[in-house]
Amino acid sequence: MKVAIFSNTQPATILVVEKLKQLLKEKNITVVEAESDPEIVISVGGDGTMLSAFRHYLPRIERVRFIGVHTGHLGFYTDYREFELDELVDSLSESQCADVSYPILRVEAYKGDSLEPFLIDHALNESTVRRVVSTFTCNVLIKGDFFEKFRGDGLSISTPTGSTAYNKSLGGAVIHPTVKALQVTEIASLNNSIFRTLGSPMVISPDEWVEVELLDPTDVDLSVDNLILHDTGVTRLKYQIAKERIHFVKYRHMHFWDRVGNSFIYPKKKYD
Ligand code: NAP
Ligand code: MN
Repeated sequence: MKVAIFSNTQPATILVVEKLKQLLKEKNITVVEAESDPEIVISVGGDGTMLSAFRHYLPRIERVRFIGVHTGHLGFYTDYREFELDELVDSLSESQCADVSYPILRVEAYKGDSLEPFLIDHALNESTVRRVVSTFTCNVLIKGDFFEKFRGDGLSISTPTGSTAYNKSLGGAVIHPTVKALQVTEIASLNNSIFRTLGSPMVISPDEWVEVELLDPTDVDLSVDNLILHDTGVTRLKYQIAKERIHFVKYRHMHFWDRVGNSFIYPKKKYD
């Protein structure tokens, strides 16, 4: 089993990485360079580190299984704490550690009338398209049919695992990560007696896709997770669930809704 460590550069992380390397060595687990072809990638840092690890391994995303240690705040993708490294290494040394996989978002960006995308990318959390200096206007199509004309700051298209990130701040629903769906959330839509959008988040089924036709591409920011592209001249975006999925080493038993509760409502579950 070839294991690589992908980490941020914070001092707390560096200490954890050293300890982790030592424990892996004791168990005779080979640690390989991040650039080689690992089967397991241990992300050490925060959710942002996991997003970067995902981006780094995108070309071979179906061959890698991720597991995360968080060294800062409570992580969504990074389940283990620095004091649980023994447990993590033990779970890796069990030869057939189980696998869990979740949907990711495929993003295609086009310019003008071109049928060839100038960008094909994938998001683990979400992709947003927006302009804040002046009103962003676009047509939204679902499965090839016109749905609405949107005016406002922009739109977010998120994955189930991304539903607890920016999507949640936008008032989107938290979606269980095994649900195969995408969510479209509005960013400050203009709604009045003249302009009208649906005004609520939409959950798109796996056989559907969403297209965004920009009416003015100037000054638009296009984001794919933590990557932000300014003023690309994009005029059309196509969003759908990717054929590929992200694979995680199945964590010790932790219910998704417990994690949501622990992160957003209470530090420790209370029934009183
Ligand atoms: P960041 O500014 O550190 O991220 C903002 C916060 O979102 C951090 O606390 C981050 O956790 C957390 N986060 C990331 N993915 C999450 C997920 N799937 N579920 C729950 N929380 C999550 O920037 P970053 O670390 O590079 O992450 C980029 C992501 O931040 C974007 O994909 C977007 O979803 C999110 N974001 C949110 C807002 C907002 O809510 N207003 C604005 C911009 C970006 P860590 O501290 O562990 O990294
Ligand atoms: Mn972060």
